[in-house]
Amino acid sequence: MVRDVVIVGGGTAGWMTATYLRAAFGDRLGVTLVESRAVPPIGVGEATFSTIRHFFDYLGLAEHEWMPECNATYKLAIRFENWREPGRYFYHPFERLRLADGFTMADWWLKIGSDRFDRECLVVPAICEAKRAPKNLSGELFEVSLHDGGDRHRRTTMSEQDTQFPYAYQFDASLLAKFLTGYGVQRGVKHIRDDVVDVKQDERGWISHLVTAEHGELAGDLYIDCTGFRGMLINQVLGEPFESYQQYLPNDRAVALRVAADPERDGIRPYTTATAMESGWIWTIPLFHRNGTGYVYAEDFCSAEEAERTIRRFVGPAADDVEANHIRMRVGRNRNSWVHNCVAIGLSSGFVEPLESTGIFFIHHGIEQLVKHFPDESWDPTLIRAYNRTINRCLDGVRDFLVVHYRCAARADTPYWKATKERPVPDGVAERLEVWSTRLPDETSVYPYYHGFEPYSYNVMLLGLGGHLPRAPKAALSFLDEAAARRQLAAVARQSRELVASLPSQYDYLASM
Ligand code: FAD
Repeated sequence: MVRDVVIVGGGTAGWMTATYLRAAFGDRLGVTLVESRAVPPIGVGEATFSTIRHFFDYLGLAEHEWMPECNATYKLAIRFENWREPGRYFYHPFERLRLADGFTMADWWLKIGSDRFDRECLVVPAICEAKRAPKNLSGELFEVSLHDGGDRHRRTTMSEQDTQFPYAYQFDASLLAKFLTGYGVQRGVKHIRDDVVDVKQDERGWISHLVTAEHGELAGDLYIDCTGFRGMLINQVLGEPFESYQQYLPNDRAVALRVAADPERDGIRPYTTATAMESGWIWTIPLFHRNGTGYVYAEDFCSAEEAERTIRRFVGPAADDVEANHIRMRVGRNRNSWVHNCVAIGLSSGFVEPLESTGIFFIHHGIEQLVKHFPDESWDPTLIRAYNRTINRCLDGVRDFLVVHYRCAARADTPYWKATKERPVPDGVAERLEVWSTRLPDETSVYPYYHGFEPYSYNVMLLGLGGHLPRAPKAALSFLDEAAARRQLAAVARQSRELVASLPSQYDYLASM
């Protein structure tokens, strides 16, 4: 039996893994986490994805227990600024598209919409603009009817399934790791602060034990590599190759700042912003007491000095005394994240730039899949292959989705943005783009394996980015009555107004929490 797990690394990946495994298996599985005092965690990674709530639910943690401890805020969308042209923006919310007569409102919008797709077809953009919380003060999540109300004979199709959970969180990742340390240690995670200085292998090449600087040897059955970009166990010791995505996604550097904020005065935006710049883009993530911000760029187009000047100019005087954190990013994934008795989770497994806030999503996905594929003493190779396939597909799918962001952004005004239109695209993307030039994406024409993004996200991005739109609305719509679609547009406008009027501000909600 696999009875003891040793995790190397105490960043977000290490602590999420340790606490999740204890929550899943309790005392039946021993969990030891060793983290270096000398090597700090990466210190970024603050915006998340709407599935993250399952992580906290799984650990039995309510929002009021952990959010205030981690400076956390709600995130309902990503606002993309300047991707189409300077001065223009749109939201990519956690909100599915409504339907009218079996066609999405994105399809209908191409026929009957006017200027702003996101605000005409979705309610979350209005909540974002008004800086509202997604819950009323008694803690109830906002609810809207996705039906237009006026149509008693509404026709539905198979694609009308469950709704999308409307929010994720933004939090201070170092505070979360600290919070999870307390939670994990209380529930029996053995915590060692020390450096792993050597990794020993048996005659088959499997890890037999670790050697630490001060605590001697550490042995387990399964080893989890959460050592970040260095991939100490999986790459350095086991020699698993890392497959770069850089030919498709060239951004390989970031420079981050932590900037003070005054939420009482300015309110708190319930969204992350991604602002396109000359050679990359800047994230702005509002936490309760400060904003996290950083410039993601490609070294081929911009030096580190120029990048730091750009982000400081962007932030203004608030950045004056703030130290910049320059980060080199390893973009891509391992050929396999599970090799022998070692599983890599977090940056050691794979990473794409944080444009859709997927780093912590990959961690959560890796852990959930590990629990589902948990090995017994046979270490069944089929099980390990299945795990690797699932992880690889998820990362490759997000890579493809990000490639689409750059390819479909109308912007092509600098050498960096011009190159985004000329670079090769991964297998399958060119074909999908061709299909989308005749009709908007649906479940038959997006990346076919689970990667966290549904067709609605592709629609919202294509319509917002503006550089790759279908040549014409769907022909079928000309044969249908527009009345149901028009009622949906009216329902969105009405519900948006009602929500803005009834929901508290995000600041008031969090202050009361
Ligand atoms: P790290 O934080 O690097 O932790 C590595 C750990 O390994 C440390 O504790 C270190 O002490 C330990 N260690 C290393 N060597 C040894 C050794 N020899 N012995 C003992 N311990 C050792 N994700 C999101 O979801 N949203 C975002 O908005 C987002 N933004 C990002 C922006 C940037 C620029 C980058 C680079 C990443 C971003 N991410 C984001 C990803 C996110 O930061 C990571 O997924 C997350 O922080 C997990 O990191 P990690 O735990 O894998 O690695």
